[in-house]
Amino acid sequence: MTPASTERRLVHILGAGPVGLILTAMLQSMPGFSIRLYEKRATYTRKRMVKLAPYLIADSVEAYHDDRIDGENIDAVFDRWELEQSMAFRRSVATPLRQLLEAWTTGFTPLNEIEQGLSDLIDAPGVSPVERVQMALSMKDVTTLLSPGDILVDCTGRNSLLRDHLEVPTGEVREAPFEEPNMLNLRLEYAAVITFLHGRPYECNEYCKYYKNVENTQYKFIPSVDRTMHDADISHVTGIVNISAADFEAMPPQCDGDFLRANFPGVAEAMDRFIDKVCEETGGGTIGDLEVIRIPLNLYRALNATNRRLRRQPEGAHPLASSSVLLAGDSAIGSPYFQSISLGFECAMFLAGLLADPTLGEDETLERYENLVYKQWLRVYMRSKLIKHNKDLFESLDDTFGLLDKLHIY
Ligand SMILES: Cc1cc2nc3c(=O)[nH]c(=O)nc-3n(C[C@H](O)[C@H](O)[C@H](O)COP(=O)(O)OP(=O)(O)OC[C@H]3O[C@@H](n4cnc5c(N)ncnc54)[C@H](O)[C@@H]3O)c2cc1C
Repeated sequence: MTPASTERRLVHILGAGPVGLILTAMLQSMPGFSIRLYEKRATYTRKRMVKLAPYLIADSVEAYHDDRIDGENIDAVFDRWELEQSMAFRRSVATPLRQLLEAWTTGFTPLNEIEQGLSDLIDAPGVSPVERVQMALSMKDVTTLLSPGDILVDCTGRNSLLRDHLEVPTGEVREAPFEEPNMLNLRLEYAAVITFLHGRPYECNEYCKYYKNVENTQYKFIPSVDRTMHDADISHVTGIVNISAADFEAMPPQCDGDFLRANFPGVAEAMDRFIDKVCEETGGGTIGDLEVIRIPLNLYRALNATNRRLRRQPEGAHPLASSSVLLAGDSAIGSPYFQSISLGFECAMFLAGLLADPTLGEDETLERYENLVYKQWLRVYMRSKLIKHNKDLFESLDDTFGLLDKLHIY
Protein backbone atom coordinates (compact mmCIF):
# COMPACT_ATOMS: atom_id res chain seq x y z
CA MET A 1 0.00 0.00 0.00
CA THR A 2 1.35 3.48 -0.84
CA PRO A 3 -0.50 6.28 0.95
CA ALA A 4 -1.62 9.35 -1.00
CA SER A 5 1.11 12.00 -1.01
CA THR A 6 -0.98 14.54 0.94
CA GLU A 7 -1.46 12.21 3.93
CA ARG A 8 0.79 12.55 6.94
CA ARG A 9 2.23 9.14 7.74
CA LEU A 10 2.47 8.11 11.33
CA VAL A 11 5.99 7.06 12.27
CA HIS A 12 6.41 5.15 15.53
CA ILE A 13 9.98 5.35 16.77
CA LEU A 14 10.63 2.86 19.54
CA GLY A 15 13.48 3.85 21.82
CA ALA A 16 14.87 7.35 22.36
CA GLY A 17 18.53 6.40 22.66
CA PRO A 18 20.95 8.25 20.37
CA VAL A 19 19.74 6.58 17.18
CA GLY A 20 15.98 6.91 17.83
CA LEU A 21 16.58 10.56 18.71
CA ILE A 22 18.58 11.45 15.62
CA LEU A 23 16.04 9.76 13.38
CA THR A 24 13.26 11.70 15.12
CA ALA A 25 15.15 14.98 14.74
CA MET A 26 15.66 14.35 11.04
CA LEU A 27 12.10 13.28 10.22
CA GLN A 28 10.68 16.10 12.31
CA SER A 29 12.19 18.64 9.93
CA MET A 30 10.65 16.94 6.87
CA PRO A 31 7.09 17.38 5.67
CA GLY A 32 4.60 14.51 5.61
CA PHE A 33 5.21 12.77 8.93
CA SER A 34 3.60 12.66 12.37
CA ILE A 35 6.05 11.22 14.85
CA ARG A 36 5.41 9.31 18.03
CA LEU A 37 8.56 8.61 20.06
CA TYR A 38 8.41 5.92 22.75
CA GLU A 39 10.96 5.62 25.56
CA LYS A 40 10.90 3.74 28.84
CA ARG A 41 13.54 5.84 30.64
CA ALA A 42 12.56 9.14 32.26
CA THR A 43 16.01 10.76 32.17
CA TYR A 44 19.34 10.36 30.42
CA THR A 45 21.90 9.11 32.89
CA ARG A 46 24.47 7.11 30.87
CA LYS A 47 27.65 9.10 31.39
CA ARG A 48 30.10 6.82 29.57
CA MET A 49 32.31 8.72 27.16
CA VAL A 50 31.79 7.85 23.52
CA LYS A 51 33.51 8.79 20.34
CA LEU A 52 31.87 9.58 17.00
CA ALA A 53 33.55 9.13 13.63
CA PRO A 54 34.51 12.19 11.53
CA TYR A 55 32.90 10.59 8.44
CA LEU A 56 29.52 11.54 9.97
CA ILE A 57 30.10 15.15 9.03
CA ALA A 58 31.69 14.47 5.64
CA ASP A 59 29.91 16.38 2.91
CA SER A 60 31.77 14.94 -0.06
CA VAL A 61 32.56 11.39 -1.13
CA GLU A 62 36.28 12.13 -0.80
CA ALA A 63 35.89 13.30 2.79
CA TYR A 64 33.66 10.29 3.53
CA HIS A 65 36.32 7.72 2.77
CA ASP A 66 39.22 9.65 4.18
CA ASP A 67 39.88 6.88 6.70
CA ARG A 68 43.10 4.97 6.69
CA ILE A 69 41.44 1.73 7.76
CA ASP A 70 38.39 1.50 5.56
CA GLY A 71 38.70 4.10 2.81
CA GLU A 72 39.26 1.44 0.18
CA ASN A 73 36.62 -0.91 1.61
CA ILE A 74 34.05 1.82 1.03
CA ASP A 75 34.93 1.90 -2.67
CA ALA A 76 34.74 -1.89 -2.79
CA VAL A 77 31.30 -2.11 -1.18
CA PHE A 78 29.36 0.95 -2.29
CA ASP A 79 28.55 2.19 -5.77
CA ARG A 80 29.56 5.76 -6.40
CA TRP A 81 25.92 6.85 -6.84
CA GLU A 82 25.06 5.39 -3.44
CA LEU A 83 27.78 7.45 -1.81
CA GLU A 84 26.65 10.54 -3.71
CA GLN A 85 23.09 9.90 -2.49
CA SER A 86 24.25 9.53 1.12
CA MET A 87 26.14 12.81 0.83
CA ALA A 88 23.04 14.50 -0.57
CA PHE A 89 21.01 13.23 2.43
CA ARG A 90 23.71 14.53 4.73
CA ARG A 91 23.76 17.96 3.15
CA SER A 92 20.02 18.21 3.85
CA VAL A 93 20.65 17.90 7.62
CA ALA A 94 19.35 21.06 9.31
CA THR A 95 22.00 23.44 10.66
CA PRO A 96 21.37 22.97 14.41
CA LEU A 97 21.73 19.21 14.11
CA ARG A 98 24.78 19.56 11.92
CA GLN A 99 26.39 21.85 14.50
CA LEU A 100 25.82 19.26 17.20
CA LEU A 101 27.38 16.53 15.07
CA GLU A 102 30.38 18.75 14.36
CA ALA A 103 30.88 19.34 18.08
CA TRP A 104 30.55 15.63 18.95
CA THR A 105 33.15 14.57 16.42
CA THR A 106 35.84 16.78 18.00
CA GLY A 107 36.52 14.37 20.90
CA PHE A 108 35.02 12.07 23.52
CA THR A 109 31.57 13.17 24.75
CA PRO A 110 29.37 11.73 27.50
CA LEU A 111 26.61 9.63 25.94
CA ASN A 112 23.91 11.36 27.97
CA GLU A 113 25.04 14.72 26.60
CA ILE A 114 24.47 13.46 23.08
CA GLU A 115 21.07 12.11 24.08
CA GLN A 116 20.07 15.28 25.91
CA GLY A 117 21.34 17.52 23.08
CA LEU A 118 19.20 15.67 20.53
CA SER A 119 16.25 15.54 22.87
CA ASP A 120 16.40 19.32 23.44
CA LEU A 121 16.59 19.87 19.70
CA ILE A 122 13.41 17.83 19.21
CA ASP A 123 11.58 19.81 21.90
CA ALA A 124 12.86 23.22 20.77
CA PRO A 125 10.22 25.88 20.06
CA GLY A 126 9.33 26.44 16.43
CA VAL A 127 9.81 22.89 15.21
CA SER A 128 7.04 20.47 14.33
CA PRO A 129 5.97 18.78 17.58
CA VAL A 130 6.74 15.16 18.35
CA GLU A 131 4.40 13.13 20.52
CA ARG A 132 6.38 11.55 23.34
CA VAL A 133 5.15 8.41 25.06
CA GLN A 134 6.95 7.22 28.17
CA MET A 135 6.43 3.48 28.55
CA ALA A 136 8.22 0.15 28.28
CA LEU A 137 6.64 -1.32 25.18
CA SER A 138 5.93 -5.00 24.72
CA MET A 139 5.35 -6.83 21.45
CA LYS A 140 1.64 -6.88 22.30
CA ASP A 141 1.64 -3.08 22.69
CA VAL A 142 3.27 -2.78 19.30
CA THR A 143 0.64 -4.88 17.56
CA THR A 144 -2.17 -2.77 19.05
CA LEU A 145 -0.63 0.60 18.26
CA LEU A 146 0.14 -0.18 14.60
CA SER A 147 -2.31 0.60 11.80
CA PRO A 148 -1.85 -0.48 8.18
CA GLY A 149 0.45 1.94 6.36
CA ASP A 150 2.22 3.16 9.52
CA ILE A 151 5.98 3.13 9.69
CA LEU A 152 7.63 1.62 12.73
CA VAL A 153 11.34 1.93 13.44
CA ASP A 154 12.75 -0.17 16.25
CA CYS A 155 15.65 1.68 17.89
CA THR A 156 15.51 -0.25 21.16
CA GLY A 157 19.17 -1.22 21.09
CA ARG A 158 21.12 -4.46 21.49
CA ASN A 159 18.19 -6.33 23.05
CA SER A 160 15.85 -5.17 20.32
CA LEU A 161 12.14 -5.58 20.93
CA LEU A 162 11.25 -6.62 17.39
CA ARG A 163 14.37 -8.15 15.84
CA ASP A 164 13.38 -11.76 16.54
CA HIS A 165 9.88 -11.12 15.20
CA LEU A 166 11.12 -10.12 11.74
CA GLU A 167 12.26 -13.65 10.97
CA VAL A 168 9.95 -15.76 8.84
CA PRO A 169 9.94 -18.91 11.05
CA THR A 170 11.39 -22.03 9.43
CA GLY A 171 11.38 -24.34 12.47
CA GLU A 172 15.05 -25.23 11.92
CA VAL A 173 17.34 -25.46 14.97
CA ARG A 174 20.12 -22.93 14.65
CA GLU A 175 23.62 -23.01 16.00
CA ALA A 176 26.33 -20.43 16.69
CA PRO A 177 26.90 -17.90 15.23
CA PHE A 178 23.19 -17.95 14.31
CA GLU A 179 21.77 -19.07 17.66
CA GLU A 180 19.31 -16.19 18.04
CA PRO A 181 16.49 -15.97 15.51
CA ASN A 182 17.24 -13.33 12.89
CA MET A 183 20.78 -12.72 14.10
CA LEU A 184 24.34 -13.46 13.10
CA ASN A 185 26.54 -12.90 16.13
CA LEU A 186 30.35 -13.12 16.03
CA ARG A 187 32.31 -12.85 19.25
CA LEU A 188 35.62 -11.14 18.53
CA GLU A 189 37.02 -11.15 22.04
CA TYR A 190 36.32 -10.60 25.72
CA ALA A 191 37.62 -7.31 26.98
CA ALA A 192 38.27 -5.38 30.15
CA VAL A 193 37.59 -1.80 29.07
CA ILE A 194 39.50 0.63 31.30
CA THR A 195 38.84 4.37 31.08
CA PHE A 196 40.42 7.36 32.74
CA LEU A 197 41.08 11.04 32.20
CA HIS A 198 44.61 12.33 31.85
CA GLY A 199 45.30 15.96 32.76
CA ARG A 200 47.41 16.82 29.73
CA PRO A 201 46.98 16.73 25.97
CA TYR A 202 48.30 13.40 24.83
CA GLU A 203 48.33 11.62 21.49
CA CYS A 204 49.01 7.97 20.99
CA ASN A 205 50.14 6.45 17.71
CA GLU A 206 51.09 2.80 17.11
CA TYR A 207 54.71 3.38 18.23
CA CYS A 208 53.43 4.76 21.50
CA LYS A 209 51.06 1.80 21.94
CA TYR A 210 53.97 -0.54 21.36
CA TYR A 211 56.66 1.10 23.51
CA LYS A 212 54.35 1.64 26.47
CA ASN A 213 53.51 -2.07 26.34
CA VAL A 214 56.99 -3.44 25.79
CA GLU A 215 57.29 -5.01 29.24
CA ASN A 216 53.67 -6.18 29.24
CA THR A 217 54.11 -9.77 28.20
CA GLN A 218 50.80 -11.40 29.14
CA TYR A 219 48.27 -8.60 28.73
CA LYS A 220 48.51 -5.49 26.58
CA PHE A 221 46.65 -2.26 27.27
CA ILE A 222 45.60 -0.93 23.86
CA PRO A 223 44.25 2.60 24.13
CA SER A 224 42.04 4.84 22.12
CA VAL A 225 43.02 8.40 23.04
CA ASP A 226 41.35 11.66 22.14
CA ARG A 227 40.73 15.06 23.61
CA THR A 228 37.43 15.53 25.41
CA MET A 229 34.91 17.63 23.56
CA HIS A 230 34.84 20.36 26.23
CA ASP A 231 38.48 20.64 27.17
CA ALA A 232 41.23 20.10 24.62
CA ASP A 233 43.82 19.97 27.41
CA ILE A 234 42.29 16.90 28.97
CA SER A 235 42.70 13.56 27.24
CA HIS A 236 40.23 10.75 27.54
CA VAL A 237 41.79 7.31 27.40
CA THR A 238 39.83 4.10 26.87
CA GLY A 239 42.06 1.04 26.90
CA ILE A 240 40.98 -2.41 25.83
CA VAL A 241 42.71 -5.36 27.46
CA ASN A 242 41.98 -8.69 25.79
CA ILE A 243 41.02 -11.18 28.54
CA SER A 244 40.22 -14.88 28.55
CA ALA A 245 36.70 -16.31 28.83
CA ALA A 246 37.64 -17.47 32.36
CA ASP A 247 38.76 -13.93 33.37
CA PHE A 248 35.53 -12.62 31.90
CA GLU A 249 33.41 -15.01 33.96
CA ALA A 250 35.33 -14.22 37.14
CA MET A 251 35.30 -10.42 36.73
CA PRO A 252 32.32 -8.36 37.98
CA PRO A 253 30.56 -6.31 35.25
CA GLN A 254 32.06 -3.13 36.70
CA CYS A 255 34.89 -2.40 39.14
CA ASP A 256 37.59 0.16 39.93
CA GLY A 257 41.38 0.14 39.63
CA ASP A 258 41.94 -1.08 43.21
CA PHE A 259 39.64 -4.05 42.76
CA LEU A 260 41.45 -4.92 39.54
CA ARG A 261 44.85 -4.72 41.27
CA ALA A 262 43.70 -6.99 44.09
CA ASN A 263 41.93 -9.58 41.96
CA PHE A 264 43.39 -9.46 38.46
CA PRO A 265 46.99 -8.38 39.10
CA GLY A 266 48.21 -9.30 35.60
CA VAL A 267 45.62 -7.09 33.89
CA ALA A 268 46.19 -4.29 36.41
CA GLU A 269 49.96 -4.44 35.98
CA ALA A 270 49.66 -3.92 32.21
CA MET A 271 47.32 -0.99 32.82
CA ASP A 272 49.48 0.64 35.54
CA ARG A 273 52.67 0.26 33.55
CA PHE A 274 51.04 1.95 30.59
CA ILE A 275 49.63 4.79 32.69
CA ASP A 276 52.94 5.37 34.49
CA LYS A 277 54.69 5.75 31.14
CA VAL A 278 52.09 8.22 29.91
CA CYS A 279 52.50 10.31 33.08
CA GLU A 280 56.28 10.19 32.77
CA GLU A 281 56.10 11.36 29.16
CA THR A 282 53.64 14.23 29.59
CA GLY A 283 54.33 15.24 33.20
CA GLY A 284 50.57 15.04 33.80
CA GLY A 285 48.55 12.78 36.04
CA THR A 286 45.34 10.78 36.07
CA ILE A 287 42.22 12.73 37.05
CA GLY A 288 39.66 10.91 39.19
CA ASP A 289 39.11 7.16 39.36
CA LEU A 290 39.73 4.47 36.84
CA GLU A 291 36.60 2.76 35.61
CA VAL A 292 36.73 -0.84 34.53
CA ILE A 293 33.96 -2.74 32.81
CA ARG A 294 34.11 -6.14 31.25
CA ILE A 295 32.22 -6.76 28.04
CA PRO A 296 32.15 -9.27 25.22
CA LEU A 297 33.11 -7.49 22.00
CA ASN A 298 30.51 -8.76 19.57
CA LEU A 299 29.94 -8.02 15.93
CA TYR A 300 26.39 -8.82 14.90
CA ARG A 301 23.67 -8.06 12.43
CA ALA A 302 19.99 -8.71 12.05
CA LEU A 303 19.55 -11.08 9.12
CA ASN A 304 16.39 -9.14 8.27
CA ALA A 305 16.62 -5.42 9.06
CA THR A 306 13.07 -4.88 7.80
CA ASN A 307 9.81 -6.79 7.53
CA ARG A 308 10.03 -7.03 3.73
CA ARG A 309 9.91 -10.81 3.80
CA LEU A 310 7.06 -10.91 6.32
CA ARG A 311 5.03 -8.65 4.05
CA ARG A 312 5.04 -11.40 1.43
CA GLN A 313 3.18 -13.74 3.82
CA PRO A 314 -0.57 -14.27 3.24
CA GLU A 315 -2.65 -11.35 4.50
CA GLY A 316 -3.28 -11.49 8.26
CA ALA A 317 -0.57 -14.15 8.75
CA HIS A 318 1.62 -11.85 10.85
CA PRO A 319 0.72 -8.81 12.98
CA LEU A 320 3.70 -6.82 11.59
CA ALA A 321 2.96 -7.57 7.93
CA SER A 322 0.76 -4.64 6.97
CA SER A 323 3.07 -1.80 8.05
CA SER A 324 6.67 -0.92 7.27
CA VAL A 325 8.91 -2.13 10.09
CA LEU A 326 12.60 -1.35 10.17
CA LEU A 327 15.46 -1.79 12.64
CA ALA A 328 18.00 0.97 13.24
CA GLY A 329 21.05 1.41 15.48
CA ASP A 330 22.09 -1.44 17.75
CA SER A 331 18.81 -3.23 16.94
CA ALA A 332 20.13 -3.79 13.41
CA ILE A 333 23.93 -3.92 13.69
CA GLY A 334 26.32 -3.95 16.62
CA SER A 335 30.05 -3.46 16.43
CA PRO A 336 32.96 -2.99 18.83
CA TYR A 337 35.87 -0.52 18.76
CA PHE A 338 33.94 2.76 19.08
CA GLN A 339 31.98 2.43 15.83
CA SER A 340 28.39 1.64 16.77
CA ILE A 341 26.78 5.02 17.30
CA SER A 342 28.34 6.44 14.14
CA LEU A 343 27.06 3.47 12.20
CA GLY A 344 23.61 3.85 13.74
CA PHE A 345 23.58 7.57 12.90
CA GLU A 346 24.70 6.80 9.38
CA CYS A 347 21.86 4.31 8.80
CA ALA A 348 19.32 6.64 10.47
CA MET A 349 20.30 9.55 8.21
CA PHE A 350 20.00 7.36 5.15
CA LEU A 351 16.63 6.01 6.31
CA ALA A 352 15.29 9.52 6.85
CA GLY A 353 16.35 10.36 3.28
CA LEU A 354 14.58 7.28 1.89
CA LEU A 355 11.38 7.89 3.85
CA ALA A 356 11.27 11.48 2.65
CA ASP A 357 11.57 10.47 -1.00
CA PRO A 358 8.03 10.72 -2.46
CA THR A 359 8.98 8.66 -5.52
CA LEU A 360 9.63 5.51 -3.51
CA GLY A 361 6.86 3.03 -2.66
CA GLU A 362 6.91 1.18 0.66
CA ASP A 363 8.42 -2.03 -0.70
CA GLU A 364 11.14 -0.20 -2.57
CA THR A 365 12.00 1.81 0.55
CA LEU A 366 12.35 -1.41 2.54
CA GLU A 367 14.50 -3.03 -0.16
CA ARG A 368 16.74 0.01 -0.43
CA TYR A 369 17.16 0.21 3.34
CA GLU A 370 17.86 -3.52 3.62
CA ASN A 371 20.53 -3.13 0.94
CA LEU A 372 22.09 -0.16 2.72
CA VAL A 373 22.18 -1.96 6.07
CA TYR A 374 23.79 -4.99 4.44
CA LYS A 375 26.46 -2.85 2.82
CA GLN A 376 27.13 -0.97 6.05
CA TRP A 377 27.42 -4.38 7.70
CA LEU A 378 30.01 -5.52 5.14
CA ARG A 379 31.93 -2.34 5.75
CA VAL A 380 31.93 -2.61 9.54
CA TYR A 381 32.63 -6.36 9.36
CA MET A 382 35.75 -5.79 7.28
CA ARG A 383 36.85 -2.88 9.43
CA SER A 384 36.32 -4.71 12.72
CA LYS A 385 38.04 -7.89 11.53
CA LEU A 386 41.00 -5.85 10.36
CA ILE A 387 41.23 -4.02 13.69
CA LYS A 388 40.97 -7.33 15.57
CA HIS A 389 43.60 -8.94 13.34
CA ASN A 390 45.95 -5.99 13.78
CA LYS A 391 45.38 -6.16 17.55
CA ASP A 392 46.15 -9.87 17.58
CA LEU A 393 49.39 -9.34 15.69
CA PHE A 394 50.31 -6.38 17.85
CA GLU A 395 49.89 -8.49 20.98
CA SER A 396 52.45 -11.00 19.62
CA LEU A 397 55.02 -8.59 18.20
CA ASP A 398 57.77 -9.78 20.56
CA ASP A 399 56.97 -13.44 20.07
CA THR A 400 57.98 -14.42 16.53
CA PHE A 401 56.42 -17.91 16.62
CA GLY A 402 53.27 -16.62 18.28
CA LEU A 403 53.08 -13.99 15.56
CA LEU A 404 53.61 -16.51 12.75
CA ASP A 405 50.87 -18.72 14.23
CA LYS A 406 48.44 -15.87 13.75
CA LEU A 407 49.38 -15.27 10.13
CA HIS A 408 47.74 -17.04 7.27
CA ILE A 409 49.19 -15.72 4.07
CA TYR A 410 47.73 -18.02 1.40
C1 LIG B 1 31.30 0.80 27.69
C2 LIG B 1 30.77 1.15 26.36
C3 LIG B 1 31.43 2.11 25.62
C4 LIG B 1 30.95 2.47 24.36
N1 LIG B 1 31.63 3.40 23.64
C5 LIG B 1 31.20 3.72 22.41
C6 LIG B 1 31.91 4.69 21.61
O1 LIG B 1 32.90 5.27 22.01
N2 LIG B 1 31.41 4.96 20.37
C7 LIG B 1 30.31 4.34 19.89
O2 LIG B 1 29.92 4.61 18.75
N3 LIG B 1 29.62 3.46 20.62
C8 LIG B 1 30.03 3.13 21.86
N4 LIG B 1 29.34 2.21 22.58
C9 LIG B 1 28.12 1.62 22.02
C10 LIG B 1 26.96 2.62 22.09
O3 LIG B 1 26.72 3.04 23.40
C11 LIG B 1 25.71 2.01 21.47
O4 LIG B 1 26.05 1.58 20.16
C12 LIG B 1 24.57 3.02 21.36
O5 LIG B 1 24.14 3.43 22.63
C13 LIG B 1 23.40 2.40 20.60
O6 LIG B 1 22.42 3.36 20.39
P1 LIG B 1 20.92 2.93 20.10
O7 LIG B 1 20.14 4.19 20.09
O8 LIG B 1 20.88 2.05 18.91
O9 LIG B 1 20.50 2.01 21.33
P2 LIG B 1 20.50 2.32 22.88
O10 LIG B 1 21.49 3.35 23.22
O11 LIG B 1 20.58 1.01 23.55
O12 LIG B 1 19.06 2.97 23.12
C14 LIG B 1 17.89 2.19 23.11
C15 LIG B 1 16.81 2.98 23.78
O13 LIG B 1 15.58 2.24 23.71
C16 LIG B 1 14.95 2.25 24.99
N5 LIG B 1 14.16 1.01 25.06
C17 LIG B 1 14.63 -0.26 25.01
N6 LIG B 1 13.61 -1.14 25.07
C18 LIG B 1 12.48 -0.40 25.16
C19 LIG B 1 11.11 -0.75 25.27
N7 LIG B 1 10.69 -2.02 25.30
N8 LIG B 1 10.20 0.26 25.36
C20 LIG B 1 10.59 1.57 25.35
N9 LIG B 1 11.90 1.95 25.26
C21 LIG B 1 12.83 0.97 25.16
C22 LIG B 1 16.11 2.28 25.97
O14 LIG B 1 15.71 2.77 27.22
C23 LIG B 1 17.09 3.21 25.26
O15 LIG B 1 16.88 4.55 25.54
C24 LIG B 1 29.79 1.85 23.84
C25 LIG B 1 29.11 0.89 24.59
C26 LIG B 1 29.60 0.52 25.84
C27 LIG B 1 28.86 -0.53 26.64
